[in-house]
Amino acid sequence: MNLSFEKSRPGRYFPVIPPLDVPEAALPDGMTRAAPPRLPEMAPPDISRHYARLARRTYGVNDGLYPLGSCTMKYNPKVNDEIANLPGFTGIHPLQPESAVQGCLEVLAESERLLCEITGMDAMTFQPAAGAHGEFTGVLLIKAYHDARGDGARDKIIAPDSAHGTNPATAGMTGYRVINVPSNGDGGVDLDALRAAAGPDTAGLMLTNPNTLGIFDRNILEITRIIHDAGGMCYYDGANLNAIMGIARPGDMGFDVIHLNLHKTFSTPHGGGGPGAGAVGCKARLSRFLPSPRAAKTGESYVFEAPEESVGRVTAFNGNFLVVVRALAYILTLGADGIPDAARNAVLNANYMMRKLSDIYDVAYPGTCMHEFVLTLERLKNDCGVSAMDVAKALLDRGIHPPTMYFPLIVKEALMIEPTETESRETLDHAVAALREIYDAAGTNPEILRNSPHTTPVRRPDEVNAARRPRLRYDFGS
Ligand SMILES: *Cc1c(COP(=O)(O)O)cnc(C)c1O
Repeated sequence: MNLSFEKSRPGRYFPVIPPLDVPEAALPDGMTRAAPPRLPEMAPPDISRHYARLARRTYGVNDGLYPLGSCTMKYNPKVNDEIANLPGFTGIHPLQPESAVQGCLEVLAESERLLCEITGMDAMTFQPAAGAHGEFTGVLLIKAYHDARGDGARDKIIAPDSAHGTNPATAGMTGYRVINVPSNGDGGVDLDALRAAAGPDTAGLMLTNPNTLGIFDRNILEITRIIHDAGGMCYYDGANLNAIMGIARPGDMGFDVIHLNLHKTFSTPHGGGGPGAGAVGCKARLSRFLPSPRAAKTGESYVFEAPEESVGRVTAFNGNFLVVVRALAYILTLGADGIPDAARNAVLNANYMMRKLSDIYDVAYPGTCMHEFVLTLERLKNDCGVSAMDVAKALLDRGIHPPTMYFPLIVKEALMIEPTETESRETLDHAVAALREIYDAAGTNPEILRNSPHTTPVRRPDEVNAARRPRLRYDFGS
């Protein structure tokens, strides 16, 4: 397919900017370009077709199953988008006085109340723009807490080897040393190793639960007790709340801080690089450190408040507010019955798919999974020379988006599958049939799998170069 630059014809330009109807003002020296930008010149029908053609080549949850583990690529009700698009939400300016945006402050305060109820926390901020940003904010709260007590000796954060990669990364960014603890045979945290790691230098623990193996740690209460006994704080990575929302509350498990990915669980799609919200909740003893400002109700009206010992702002203004609007619309539509129902169906769908595959594929940690499960294709690789990558690419030829590959790192040839609650049994059966067919093909015709995909516009891109040296500009050649 040609680029718009290649389709460009001189003079096909059509005016999109209305004629100037105010006095012309000169721009400051050094701020004007020497030559006009070389933009493609195309007629409206050709532009329209160009983008329609591109849109047909993308793949999203509206096209089919998107079982990308740890991403919760589920169907997000369109009505929540419509609500977030109401002019009262999209037409506001962050510098408007509080009196002019009472409804928006109410959205923030009400979302905080409901999400605190779901997580068992006492206060929440919606400033962080992503999950990893939320982790960073949450670890800042832990640091502020120890600093405020004059306890400067705690310079380590413990993270299990089954944690999401962002956990050790954010702990490191906050200036902490990261201590890794291994998993036990069931895929949970090794308690003896945790006891050995915890001590007077422990600032806290960062735990992803359910972890990246899709397993809910059955020792969760003991884990938080060990950390608290050592004087540390417990951080819960709740990016994947889909499996437990409305059923179990991290606050009741002993956690002090949590982040949620509203752009996974709560009705904003994840993965398109679009705006997100890594809401951070905490227990009352940490709330005075939360980012400033926070929406609160005083009497009959809503105001912005500054927590006494705030860690400061972590984003411009109030984060990605419309993501919070969608989350509130989602929670209010599902209600107290619908939220746990969605979680149960997410767990049911993952277990259904896992059981339908486990007689031929090896499940990394067999047993009941939560919202996702991890296959290890090590045996297939050794026996047939077909890797997790080959299986993922072969799924593309069958019209199915591949699962997450080569993650978590502690599983060899990993495929991490998260079907989500919004898929029908027929869709799951179709994906199971495709994976079983690919498994058979690995025995009879591995070559065809090693060369897949055969049907996509781009076959196997050089992923390292695409990530490290992306070509994002058109090369005019002169
Ligand atoms: C997605 C995810 C994150 C990171 O969220 P981003 O919004 O991509 O920064 C962190 N932890 C877990 C467990 C996740 O699944």
